[in-house]
Amino acid sequence: MEHEKLEELNRLKSFYVSSVSHDLKTPLTSIKLFSQLLQNMEGINPESVEYLKIIDGESNRLTRLIDNVLDYTKIEKGIKEYLFVDIELNNLVKEVMASVEYPIKMEKFDASVNLCAEDIYLSGDKDAIAEALINLISNAIKYSRERKKITVSTEFKDSYACLKVEDEGIGISKENIKLVFDEYYQIKKGKSNRTRGAGIGLAVVKHIMDAHKGKIQVESEVGKGSSFYLLFPLRENE
Ligand code: ADP
Repeated sequence: MEHEKLEELNRLKSFYVSSVSHDLKTPLTSIKLFSQLLQNMEGINPESVEYLKIIDGESNRLTRLIDNVLDYTKIEKGIKEYLFVDIELNNLVKEVMASVEYPIKMEKFDASVNLCAEDIYLSGDKDAIAEALINLISNAIKYSRERKKITVSTEFKDSYACLKVEDEGIGISKENIKLVFDEYYQIKKGKSNRTRGAGIGLAVVKHIMDAHKGKIQVESEVGKGSSFYLLFPLRENE
């Protein structure tokens, strides 16, 4: 009985969350569009441009959050689709890093990128991999306090292409590490008082990795920082 009740509640929650998310996207698109139009208006003073950039950046953040929620509801319903194409991972990382330049600067983070000297070809869904990487980077931003350092690197690791996101933030305890990929899981005693996500970012990343027949691994130490590894099987092995 209890189980059925919980399932029903879960279905209702998914429905509610997905309808609200859809409705939020339209006004958000207008906010973004008009903030960009205003930024490019003649005679606008530099201070206003700065504020408009903040509006733009925050709209992007909200859009990402909503996309995660929508993606997750698709995953729950089993209707999330992936489009596999040939990808060069280093290029994809460069594109993603360019797109997160603004929040990284705003949050005063120092971001380094160490790309493997060789091109890394794999078959994957470009948008999904970008989304996975953005999720890891935004977590690194959210869960770091004093030491604001993010390192993104790519390398070959056995028969996998490895994409690593490393931070020097608050870290995750041993008992919580097993739980962070669960949907709606957020570590309760999170000392960070910043706006947090919906607790589904890593569950979405895990699903993306499963769809790529890949793996996600994490190493972390409380107070020292965390490293998330996304491992994609190389094309030759398929
Ligand atoms: P959200 O960030 O929206 O809460 P996620 O699924 O992305 O949800 O992450 C789940 C939980 O795992 C977070 O609430 C946080 O406690 C922990 N976590 C994720 N990434 C990190 C990180 N880089 N450093 C420390 N804790 C993290």
